[in-house]
Amino acid sequence: MAPSSKRSSGRALCVLSNRLPFTVQRNRGRLERKPSTGGLVKALEPALRKRGGTWIGWPGVELRRGERIGSSKDPYKVVPVSLSETEVARYYHGFSNGTLWPLFHSLPARAHFDRRDWITYEKVNVRFAEAAAASALESELVWVHDYHLMLSPHHLREAAPDARLAFFLHIPFPPWDLFRLLPWDRDLLRGLLACDLVGFHVDGYVQNFLDCVEKRLGARVDRAAGLVDYGGRVVKAGAFPLGIDFDMFEESAQSAPQPKSHGAERVILGVDRLDYTKGIPQRIRGLERLLELHPRHRGGVVLLQLAVPSRSQVSDYRDLKREIDELVGRVNGRFATDTWSPIRYLYRTVPLDRLTAMYRDADVALVTPLRDGMNLVAKEFVACQVDDPGVLVLSELAGAASTMREALQVNPYNIDETAEAMHRALTMDETERRSRMGALRRRERRDNVHAWVSHFLDESRADTGELTPLTDEEIGSWLTSYLQSYRVSLFLDYDGTLTPLVDHPSKARLSDEIRQTIAHLAKRDDTEVAIISGRALADVRELVDLPGLTYAGNHGLEVEAPDLPPFRHEDAEHYHHRVVELAEALDEVCSGGAWVEPKGHTLTWHYRAVRGDAGALLEHARQIIEGSGFQAREAHKALEARPPIGWDKGRAVLHVLRARYGPGWPEQARVIYVGDDHTDEDAFRQLAGMAMTFRVGPAETLTAARRRLANVDAVAAVLSWLAKRPVAGA
Ligand code: UDP
Repeated sequence: MAPSSKRSSGRALCVLSNRLPFTVQRNRGRLERKPSTGGLVKALEPALRKRGGTWIGWPGVELRRGERIGSSKDPYKVVPVSLSETEVARYYHGFSNGTLWPLFHSLPARAHFDRRDWITYEKVNVRFAEAAAASALESELVWVHDYHLMLSPHHLREAAPDARLAFFLHIPFPPWDLFRLLPWDRDLLRGLLACDLVGFHVDGYVQNFLDCVEKRLGARVDRAAGLVDYGGRVVKAGAFPLGIDFDMFEESAQSAPQPKSHGAERVILGVDRLDYTKGIPQRIRGLERLLELHPRHRGGVVLLQLAVPSRSQVSDYRDLKREIDELVGRVNGRFATDTWSPIRYLYRTVPLDRLTAMYRDADVALVTPLRDGMNLVAKEFVACQVDDPGVLVLSELAGAASTMREALQVNPYNIDETAEAMHRALTMDETERRSRMGALRRRERRDNVHAWVSHFLDESRADTGELTPLTDEEIGSWLTSYLQSYRVSLFLDYDGTLTPLVDHPSKARLSDEIRQTIAHLAKRDDTEVAIISGRALADVRELVDLPGLTYAGNHGLEVEAPDLPPFRHEDAEHYHHRVVELAEALDEVCSGGAWVEPKGHTLTWHYRAVRGDAGALLEHARQIIEGSGFQAREAHKALEARPPIGWDKGRAVLHVLRARYGPGWPEQARVIYVGDDHTDEDAFRQLAGMAMTFRVGPAETLTAARRRLANVDAVAAVLSWLAKRPVAGA
């Protein structure tokens, strides 16, 4: 996708979600739309109607060529993303529901990891981003929803660099020790970090996310403010607990048909999609335990369990259904009498008025998922408690537990505790029921889904804020235990690391502050400083102009150090004259501001000054370079032509370390490498596990470095910390 765009000043909203706000079915060859009844659709639609915009999603059927599902009467644009059967199998059932769903719900044993699913997931995410690119330019905000689309923001950011992007995850975000099981964990984090705002249901998920970002990407985070410094771009992460359409549920409960007679039985209600995260078997065992521990409830209490069919083409779900069928049979068989059975089990969906009547008439709602992003059933039950209030028993592992404190909270894996909570709920006096339910209802009425949408949109408009500048304490936490009292061998790239990137290399000057710090470091007996650059050696030595340093030019093809014999890669000599020929050949692509910098054994073709799309020119330059027998490597708005002799900054660093300290160098010195470019990635990879490596500046690419530093100021802070550190062995 070609990047373009300026941030829109309009108010239009662009929503991306796996499904469109309606499902489409093919009926005798004709497409029919059926509106979705989900709470989220109901909440987002008014915002889209009011502001105008676009909803992008999968219609649920494979569209045939030329088939359209949008209508001119739609109050906003509907853009379908059509998926083939294989794509649905791999992207939707495979990666989204077979990998991310169980893993994010902390059930890793159920997750399967298949590279083909991942590849399709990425392909579909790119397709969503492409479908959204045009609308992104016209929208105030692009709002991406849920785990199906975690990579789309990254691809959208490439297409529309100035767009305002936000993401909301509707399921939990797992702790980092689980998240890292995913072979593509860092790609997903990068996907989300392309946004300006990333929302989760509760603060626990925000902290998990920040943990992952820090530990897996080495980015700086401010936990209290929920900010991530992603290579100089600040991303905000926050908790936005989803609410429900409270009034709608309350009104429905008030008007839903009343039961013909109020039986003597007390009803414990369970309402769930039939999903292994919902803890339905544990709940049935909980009821069994209740009847064992408190026989007085036999004959007087019934568990009404509504299980909504879900993902029934997946074998895990079919197995679960069988398990529940058997359990229900066993418990009913064990306790039922000729006039009473303890479990009434419905496997179906029910219409809204039936559901709200069930909520209203229940004495206890048993909402005990093993893990749940939020859980709306708990909130819907509360909204429907319009008569004599019932009691909510709620799993502490549901997101809803973090706000619904007045519920009786249980660990759903603890069958005895669940049974006792049921007993307590069934025997709770009216005063306590009223005060608990009253508080729950007040909160859910206030924090309803409309408040949630406004809160999220307000936050997406607000200034993201800044991270506090890097402190010595923070730098110390990264380096002290690594350095101990070893010597330090410091390798510093020049452009973009010690000086900000400028429009012409000749303007990249070292600040006095950094020059003094480096001079100070070079004078220390326990520190060696090397400047390693893609520039010609003479060039970089002249720019830094400090004695006692090691200088490596041409990505390490030439090295000069105070204590070592000069090094020049022997094969590089053969390329000297060919570089001159290549420079002439590149004349063809030196138009519109592009120019060649010859550097002896290598050269750089710069195109920073080219206006507009330089894509075709870049491709042409690459062909010339490769056609001349050089390797073409991307740098910042430049292509490097390098001799194909298997030498790079990583090899050069190893050469210096071995020459200086011998093959046992890891026991002699601690290595720190700081760089900002693709060419530094060679060193990051080479030194993995044997050095502290920092990648500087903005980069949407994944880095092999351990940590990221926002900019040259952050580099200066690290250098100054190193200059001030206690002398080794003192
Ligand atoms: N629900 C439904 N049909 C039914 C019973 C329930 O659509 O027959 C709805 C229920 O009203 C609730 C949703 O299913 O809004 C379940 O949401 P929750 O957050 O509890 O769990 P999820 O299914 O999203 O994991």
